[in-house]
Formats: sequence, structure tokens, C-alpha cells
Amino acid sequence: MLSRIVVHYGEIGTKGGNRRVFEASLRRNILSALGPLGEVRVKMVDNRFFVLLPDEKVPAAKLSLAKVFGIVWFAQVEAVPLSYAEIRETAIRVLAGVPKEMSFRVSVRRPNKSFEMTSQELARKLGEDIIERLGLGVNLSAPDVTLSVDLISEEALVYREHLKGPGGLPVGVSGRVLHLLSGGIDSPVAAWLMMKRGCKPVYVHFYVAPGPEPILGSKIGELVRMLSQGGEESRLILIPFSPYQLATTDLPPEFEPIVFRRFMRMVAERLASALEFPAISTGDNLAQVASQTLQNMACIDSGGSLPTLRPLLGYDKDEIIQLARQVGTYETSILDYKDCCSIVSRHPRTRMKIEDVNESARRLGFDELATKCISMGSMATFKDDAVEMRPLSDVLGSRNRHAGDLGLEQPASQPR
Ligand code: ATP
Ligand code: MG
Repeated sequence: MLSRIVVHYGEIGTKGGNRRVFEASLRRNILSALGPLGEVRVKMVDNRFFVLLPDEKVPAAKLSLAKVFGIVWFAQVEAVPLSYAEIRETAIRVLAGVPKEMSFRVSVRRPNKSFEMTSQELARKLGEDIIERLGLGVNLSAPDVTLSVDLISEEALVYREHLKGPGGLPVGVSGRVLHLLSGGIDSPVAAWLMMKRGCKPVYVHFYVAPGPEPILGSKIGELVRMLSQGGEESRLILIPFSPYQLATTDLPPEFEPIVFRRFMRMVAERLASALEFPAISTGDNLAQVASQTLQNMACIDSGGSLPTLRPLLGYDKDEIIQLARQVGTYETSILDYKDCCSIVSRHPRTRMKIEDVNESARRLGFDELATKCISMGSMATFKDDAVEMRPLSDVLGSRNRHAGDLGLEQPASQPR
């Protein structure tokens, strides 16, 4: 038997002329998230989506839909013809099994004004019939169960669940961003927040290991997999830390954290520009640690021209940890991992001078050092359980190939 899940989106419905683009993107993302389940159809009716799929796939589909940005809520529904008798019998079936001591109420939405009864008439009559047939008590303000009936253009939807989606915008509609991913708690959450606002991150990570392969099996690879939505491909650019480490041995320890972050920011800017991404994002949080004072952030950004987006800027650490638990990355983020920041000194000046940082960058030959690190970089593409790794130079080598290689061009949606 085929089941039907209705999917509602909120914010994207208000985007005027772009609305169709947003809807097409959400549909594509739903199909991609449910791709692993096999035969699934998604159609749009009256400003909502219907997902049609075999009964036994419903529990897995619900878990996936709960993570698709752009979805506000969803519910498994029964769809019946617009007749009172059909609606009543379906409602009785949907509520069968609810224990008698539980209370209920009926909630009717009636975008289809042509139905023979008003919302109130339908709710009242249906309520009376449910009381008579099932013996449940009514509680309008705090019911145990809400029986919903939505009268749409061609049918009535009858259901009793209301499952929360993550809200936000469909990933991809806001474009691409180059996201600096460390193994910490903050940057995966920041990536999630960027995705929530419709950005598709391509990750860049600076690694300490002798080569890039071990990173794929480390918590960095795991975090990239966790952040990907369903069947979507994710990309991780891996840049070695060792050339930087060798070139900066004489840097005063109190300069190290900011000068290194300035270097990461510079490499990120080069990559983002080559890939034609309009912005960089990070997990920085204002004043959480000494490297993240306003003055030090200004030092890190100086010399760059792309905006650095810091979606966690105004959060408390407790709030970030709570979000990390919600996203599901917290337990992975706290695993041991040797990150570059554990090698450079942890005690920066809280107010570095921009001239000092600029002077260090000049003296250490950051331009050449960035070129060297990028030339030694790799790019991993994660899709389902597989990972493919290529030298970054293959990807960046020919300008015309960027778009396809990095998945910048969204595949056209496949009508089903
Ligand atoms: P996080 O928990 O995200 O690591 P943090 O509080 O530890 O953040 P920092 O270590 O100062 O803060 O890092 C600030 C930001 O710099 C990170 O959120 C991330 O965006 C970026 N970053 C830090 N280390 C790396 C790295 N090895 N590779 C790529 N980006 C990094
Ligand atoms: Mg960190």
C-alpha cells in the first residue's frame, strides 16, 4: 500500500517571484534526502508537497524529512473525497486505538471554501460523532490528541500527527559558501546554521597528519557526513599545515594564533575566489576565546575582501553546545583530535595590532606559502557511504571546469 506524507513549508512560500525556484529546490532536496529509500514520488498540490511511498518506508522517511531545511512541519495523512461521511469514517479509523480516558479536539482548515459545511460546523459535527462512536472526551485547550482535517481543492486530508521540520530555507537557494571546518564544537554548528539559511557549504580543513587520507576516517570526515543532507554530495578541501609550520618557526608565540588564523583566512579567500563563492564562513564566536576578540577578528580579516560570515557570533557557549546536541555533532566534536590550533600557541594577545599581523604575513611570504599549501591540497567528495579523493590542482586547474567539478551547477530537477 502507498502512504502519503504531507509536507508544509513556511518562509519559502513568501518569497514572491523566487517562490518557484525555492519550491523546486525544496522538492529536489526532499527527493535527494529520501533517495536511499528507493521508489518515492513527490508532487505539489495547493502549496504543499505530498510524498508518496510504500507503507514500510514511512518511519525512515519521517526521520529524513525531519532534517530537510525548508520543511516547517509534516504529517502522515489519509486523503479522502470531499464528503462528510468519508471524512467521518476516516477520522474514526485514525483515532481508533486512542484510549478512552484520553481527550481530543478537532481542528479544521478549509482553504477550499466550496465545501458544504463551514469549518466550525464540520468540527462540531465530527466531534459529536467521535464522542458517540469512540467515547473520547473533548478538551479544546489542551487535548491529548488533535484530529486535523484539511479541506484542499480536490480532497480532504485527515491526520493526527504534526511533526516538526527544521524550518529555514532549502539548502542551495542562497548559493555556496566556503566554510572553515575544524574538529571543534563550533564550526560544525556554524555550518548547520549556514545551511539553515539556504547556503551549501564546501568545507576546508587544515590538517596536521602526514597526508590527507587519515582525515577522511577521522572525526572531520565523520562531521562532513553528519552535516550532509540525505543523498546530497558534500565536498571537503584538505590543506596541509606542515608547510606553514616549517615556515613560521620563529614567530613569537603570542603572535601565532592570530597569524595562523589570518593565513587560514587568506587561503580560504583564494579558494573561494577561484571557485566563485561570494563568502567565507567560520565557527567564530565573539570573545569566546582570546583569538576571537573584535580586534583580533579584524586582524584575521584584514587583507581579505570577501565577507566572513560568523553565524555563531552572538551565541553563548551553552547555547552552541545545545545546538550541537540537536544537530547531532556534539559527541563527535568532543572526540580527541590533533588539530592545528593545538600546535600553535593558545595564548594570543587579546588585541593584536593589524600592522604587526600584516608585517608577519609579509615577512613570512604568505602569498607563496598559500600557493604552496593549495598546490598540496586535495578535495574529497562524499556521497552516500563512498568518498572519492582528488588533488585540488585537478579541480582548480581549469577555470571552466570549476562549476561542474564542485557541483556549483545544481542538477535540473527531475520531474517524477
Ligand atoms: P571550533 O569549535 O569550531 O573549533 P573554536 O572555539 O575552537 O571553534 P578556534 O579554534 O579559534 O575556535 O577556531 C575558530 C574558527 O576557525 C573555527 O570555528 C573554524 O571555523 C576555523 N578553524 C579553526 N581550526 C581550523 C582548521 N584546522 N581548519 C579549518 N578551519 C579551522
Ligand atoms: Mg577549534
